[in-house]
Amino acid sequence: MKTVGLVGWRGIVGSVLLKRMLEEQDFCNIHSVFFSTSQCGQDSPSIKNILYKKLQDAYNIELLKEMDIIITCQGSAYTEKMYLILRKYGWNGYWIDASSILRMDKKTVIVLDPINSDLIHHAIEKGIKTFVGGNCTVSLMLMSLGGLFKEELIDWISVSTYQAASGAGSRHVIELLKQMGTIYNVIAEDLSNYSSILDIEHKVTQISRSNIFPIKHFSIPLAGNLIPWIDKKMSNGQSREEWKGQVETNKILGFKNHVCIDGMCVRIGSLRCHSQSFFIKLKKDLSLENIENIISCQNNWVNVVPNSIQDTLAQLTPVAVTGTLNVPIGRLRKLNMGKKYLSAFTVGDQLLWGAAEPLRRMLNILIHL
Ligand code: NAP
Repeated sequence: MKTVGLVGWRGIVGSVLLKRMLEEQDFCNIHSVFFSTSQCGQDSPSIKNILYKKLQDAYNIELLKEMDIIITCQGSAYTEKMYLILRKYGWNGYWIDASSILRMDKKTVIVLDPINSDLIHHAIEKGIKTFVGGNCTVSLMLMSLGGLFKEELIDWISVSTYQAASGAGSRHVIELLKQMGTIYNVIAEDLSNYSSILDIEHKVTQISRSNIFPIKHFSIPLAGNLIPWIDKKMSNGQSREEWKGQVETNKILGFKNHVCIDGMCVRIGSLRCHSQSFFIKLKKDLSLENIENIISCQNNWVNVVPNSIQDTLAQLTPVAVTGTLNVPIGRLRKLNMGKKYLSAFTVGDQLLWGAAEPLRRMLNILIHL
């Protein structure tokens, strides 16, 4: 059995990874070592085939070098610090990473095996040792529209995202909930007294703009608000999150003729599901029935939601999808712009297919080599 080091398993992505590995009994097939950057010496989770009962130091090069595989959800700063050192010291094991820092490196593959398993297996044969999870919105877009991409039917996509707080990490989810609680506390009495709605709204606006509102991590309110900017600014005016859409998609698919993807990425107050609205220019005029078939046959998790009010409200919202591996896609219809123009709306749990699940599946590919 291979020895697998787990780093970053306490964070929000790492916790979901751990939960999924336990559900799928992945620990029966590996010897595992749990590392921490901050809690070395404390108890490891009690898990089958664990090599050490205590957490190991995530900066211990000698111990890390003994791992056949390291899977990390610790973040870019950790990868930047440790990955090159380990490679420099001759470590030749497999590195599986949730962070973005190695994604565009020529010697890495972005993993999403329901979409690019050929590319992954080809890379393993060629001796590639570093596999990276994709950006959450990119992975979820590909899980939903994968059929149209694989058939090379897409000319371009314009996308608007509605991204959950969890995409920014565990501290941000906690802050969003604190913001919600702070708002409720200020108006709880008014709500039960049926006070004037404008008075209630005024109190909410005032507390949201006050200096006691919890905004340490988001820097502005997210509850009752939205943030039309995610990640750093690129030189062309895109946000880095928007930039990732095109470059990562084309790398995952191994496309030489790049599909053009651009749009606006927006943070909203949902907890762990990202939603995306697409305007798609197809290369040819296909019937809606044909499009739905192509989409729904691509993988086992995507499902087409009929374009009705009832089905949309029941199946195509963050609350309906959270905690599941389902990737529903609906609101499919031809746009007024012409027969090759298609709209679509998708929702996906960004901690599952958007982060942890492609890594867990990559680990399984490697442990069964
Ligand atoms: P996170 O929740 O902030 O956790 C990262 C690390 O912070 C943990 O492993 C833990 O390390 C430490 N930590 C400190 N205080 C903690 C606390 N109270 N609870 C839990 N952990 C705490 O980060 P993340 O969102 O999981 O992201 C990890 C990486 O995955 C990043 O590179 C991110 O860009 C990438 N990613 C994230 C998402 C997402 O949806 N969030 C999606 C795709 C990729 P120690 O145990 O060593 O202290």
